[in-house]
Amino acid sequence: MNDRITRLTTTQSDFDGALAKLLAWDDSVDHQVNESVRHILREVKTRGDAAVLEFTEKFDRLKVSSMAELEMGKSRLQEALERIPQDQRLALEKAAERVRDYHERQDQKSWQYQDEDGTILGQKVTPLDRAGLYVPGGKAAYPSSVLMNAIPAKVAGVGELIMVVPTPDGVVNDMVLAAAAIAGVDRVFTLGGAQAVAALAYGTETVPAVDKIVGPGNIFVATAKREVFGVVGIDMIAGPSEILVICDGKTNPDWIAMDLFSQAEHDEQAQSILISPDAAFLDAVEASINKLLPTMEREEIIRTSMIGRGALIHVADLKEAAEVSNRIAPEHLELSVEDPQAMLDDIRHAGAIFMGRYTAEALGDYCAGPNHVLPTSGTARFSSPLGVYDFQKRSSLIGFSPNGADRMGRVASVLARGEGLTAHARSAEYRINE
Ligand code: NAD
Repeated sequence: MNDRITRLTTTQSDFDGALAKLLAWDDSVDHQVNESVRHILREVKTRGDAAVLEFTEKFDRLKVSSMAELEMGKSRLQEALERIPQDQRLALEKAAERVRDYHERQDQKSWQYQDEDGTILGQKVTPLDRAGLYVPGGKAAYPSSVLMNAIPAKVAGVGELIMVVPTPDGVVNDMVLAAAAIAGVDRVFTLGGAQAVAALAYGTETVPAVDKIVGPGNIFVATAKREVFGVVGIDMIAGPSEILVICDGKTNPDWIAMDLFSQAEHDEQAQSILISPDAAFLDAVEASINKLLPTMEREEIIRTSMIGRGALIHVADLKEAAEVSNRIAPEHLELSVEDPQAMLDDIRHAGAIFMGRYTAEALGDYCAGPNHVLPTSGTARFSSPLGVYDFQKRSSLIGFSPNGADRMGRVASVLARGEGLTAHARSAEYRINE
C-alpha cells in the first residue's frame, strides 16, 4: 500500500490520545437525512399503504398498483427454497440448525418462589406478540441476517414474525426468501428504507403494526428506527463493523491479514485492529496485508478502511493487550493465542469472543451458532448480542398471603405516609389485621 496503516505502541507518550483519535467515530446526525426520514414517517403514519407505494416507487424504482403485489406468500418462499442451488440450501439449513441449537439455550423460563409468610413472588416471561425484521437489501442481499434475526424470535415464541426487505428495481433475492422459509417467517413484504420501518411501527391497511423492530440497515433505516423508538421497541442502532485481533505472534500472518480484511470489506468505515506483543509479527502482518490486498475483489473498500480506520498496536504483553482491548470494547474480538481460555478473565467488553487460532471471525458471521448482530462502537461496554431475550419480556408476579399483607402493609403504610400519599397508605392498611 502507498499509505501505511497506522502503527501505535503503548509506550509512546501520546498513546491515549492516539487511541482515542483512532476510535473517534462521527455519528453526528445528518440533518438532511433526519428531515427526509421524518417526512417519510409522517406520510406513512397518516396515509398508510398509499404513501408506502409512492416511496417504494421513488426509492426502489418499483411501481406496483397494490400492496398485495409486494407480499411474498408462503408458497413463493417455498418456491425460492426449492429453486436455489442445493449447496446453498444445505448451507442455509446447516447454519439455521446451529443458530437454533445455540439460541435454544438462551430461552428464559418463568419462576416463582414463596417467602416465609406464604407470599408468592416471581417473574413471568412472555414472548412478544409480533416482531418486525428489517433485512437490508439496497446494495447487497443478506440471507444470514434473516437467520440471525428470525431464529431467536422463533425460539422466543414470538406470535407473528413480519419481515421486510427492499427489492430495488423489483429484483428479488431467492436466497433471502429461502432463508425466510427455513427460519419460519410468517409474512414477507418487499419494502425497504424508512417507509418499511414506518409501516411496521404504525401499521398500514396491509402491514400489521409490530411491537419491536430488529435488524440492520443503512442510515435511512437506522434514523427511522431511532425515531420510532418508544412507539415500538428496537434492538440497537448498529455502527460500522469492527474486528480486533489479539495475537501472540505465532499465527500465520496471512490468516490474520485476511481476518482483518473480512470486516474491512464491509465498508470504508469498518475498523480492523491488530494488537500484539511481537513487533516483528506486526511487520509480518503488514507485509501480508500488502501482498494480499491486490488479490481482493473489494480491494478499494478494504484499502480505505485499513488506512483510514485500521491500526497495528504494539503492547508489552497479553495482559496489556487485554487492557487495550477493554478500552476499545470491540464488536468482534479474536484471541489468536495459545491459551485463549486463560485470557478470558481479563476480557471485560466484547460483543463476541473468538477463541484460538482456528476460530476465524467469518464463521461467526454465518454458521458458528451465536448471533452475528452485535454491539458496535464501544457499546459492548453495556450491551449484548441480539438474542432470545430481546424477543421476550418479563412481568413481575406478586401474590400476598393474609400474613404477608399484614406485615408488609405496615411497612408500606409508613413509607406511603412519609411520601404524603394517603390513598396508598389506606389501601395497604385496609388489609392489616387489627
Ligand atoms: P438497506 O435495505 O438498509 O437500504 C435500502 C433502502 O434505503 C431502500 O429501500 C430505500 O428505500 C432507502 N433509501 C435509499 N436511498 C434513499 C434516499 N435518498 N432517501 C430515502 N430513502 C432512501 O440496504 P443498504 O443500503 O444495502 O444498506 C445495508 C446496510 O446494512 C449496510 O450499511 C450494511 O453494512 C449493513 N448491514 C449490517 C449488518 C450487521 O449485522 N451489522 C448485516 C448486514 C448489513
